[in-house]
Amino acid sequence: MTELDADVLVVGAGPGGAAAAYHLASAGLSVAILEKSAFPREKVCGDGLTPRAVKSLVAMGIPTDEESGWIRNKGLRIFGGGVRLELPWPELASYPDHGLVRPRLDFDHVLVKRAIEVGATLHEHTTVTGAVRDDDGRVVGVTTKDGRTFRAPLTVAADGVSGRLGLSLGVTKREDRPMGVAVRRYYTSPRSNDDHLESWLELRSPDGSLLPGYGWIFGVGDGTSNVGLGILNTTRAFQNTNYQALLDSWLSAMPGEWGYVEDNATGPMRGGALPMGFNKKPHYLPGLLLVGDAAGAVNPFNGEGIAYAMESGQLAAEVAAQALARAEGPGREKVLASYPRRMAETYGGYYTLGRVFVSAIGHPQVMRYATKYGLPRPTLMRFTLKLLANLTDPAGGDAMDRIINGFSKLAPAA
Ligand SMILES: Cc1cc2nc3c(=O)[nH]c(=O)nc-3n(C[C@H](O)[C@H](O)[C@H](O)COP(=O)(O)OP(=O)(O)OC[C@H]3O[C@@H](n4cnc5c(N)ncnc54)[C@H](O)[C@@H]3O)c2cc1C
Repeated sequence: MTELDADVLVVGAGPGGAAAAYHLASAGLSVAILEKSAFPREKVCGDGLTPRAVKSLVAMGIPTDEESGWIRNKGLRIFGGGVRLELPWPELASYPDHGLVRPRLDFDHVLVKRAIEVGATLHEHTTVTGAVRDDDGRVVGVTTKDGRTFRAPLTVAADGVSGRLGLSLGVTKREDRPMGVAVRRYYTSPRSNDDHLESWLELRSPDGSLLPGYGWIFGVGDGTSNVGLGILNTTRAFQNTNYQALLDSWLSAMPGEWGYVEDNATGPMRGGALPMGFNKKPHYLPGLLLVGDAAGAVNPFNGEGIAYAMESGQLAAEVAAQALARAEGPGREKVLASYPRRMAETYGGYYTLGRVFVSAIGHPQVMRYATKYGLPRPTLMRFTLKLLANLTDPAGGDAMDRIINGFSKLAPAA
């Protein structure tokens, strides 16, 4: 069939691909987004957006007011160790003071429509099956299941947690990086308009031991709550977890009037993997830039992936636009090689700290100690919120910001 050309191909139209496509098209480049499904389509998720993600939406010129269908939250409510704590999102110059919730069914569609508005072309029902490479092994296009070939000097791999395009070209999945598994289910609930994201720190396995992870309840604003839980692969329990039983047993302790019971479930429980702390590398192969889950970019501290997919999409677009403004050859390649470096500089040290955190909370004694002695201390918890949600000002911030940024800089970006 016909060959189709663009300046940049974007494989996958999740938040990472849509953000990359938006910023590439805004820089005047022709962009073809190749997406295996068709919108609106579901993506299993908690649907929770911290102020980091809101910032990326603002950068795409997407209105985030309530009239446009968003439900806002002021902060995080935490339950654990017998304590119920409400922590407002920090006041910062770098990030807005609110988060949002929006079901992915709708959210991803809003993002991709925005990329189309600024000139990107979306090809739905287009499953990418492999890369086209030149004689030097450089990626110069992709093939699709229906037999088409798309060609471009650059391709962005935003194909999510499976990350097949990168893997087919030698990107490796690092076993020394944390992985999580998360499940979620929607329930009709009077708590649908909650103005806080809520997290429950005490998840217990059937033998009563504390699990490294947390449960969440996010009001979706449409009469339902998104209720779910995520667990890290740092304990043996991870292999043998019955997620449905764990969800049911956790919810059975909730007040009945919240409505998190079988009869109020609007569909089945669904789940997926969380690739954390850059578990896929390298982030650049000649002609191919990896973003979002395809790059293993989920924050190991809190399991948040949307903001990091959008930020890495934006970063990849900036680098690609600068590279394509140069003639083909070593000068262009030098710009492209800066992408993995910038990813490492931006997130590497913080993710290293995240790995230490993840391995620490894999020990039930540490979890027990943290919930018992940490939660009742509001100042410590405000610090913890900034650390876990990666919300600090790089310059001119407070003492907490300076400590977090200092440690992130000191930690090696391995
Ligand atoms: C249960 C659960 C709860 C979560 N909760 C949250 C949360 O509350 N907040 C948060 O920030 N993060 C959450 N995450 C993580 C978040 O969902 C991901 O990090 C985020 O979706 C990553 O975005 P992405 O664009 O990289 O990939 P995706 O959103 O996975 O998008 C990838 C896209 O690529 C397409 N694709 C895949 N293969 C191909 C192919 N071969 N050809 C063409 N197209 C292809 C897919 O159809 C998809 O549209 C959660 C994850 C899970 C599993």
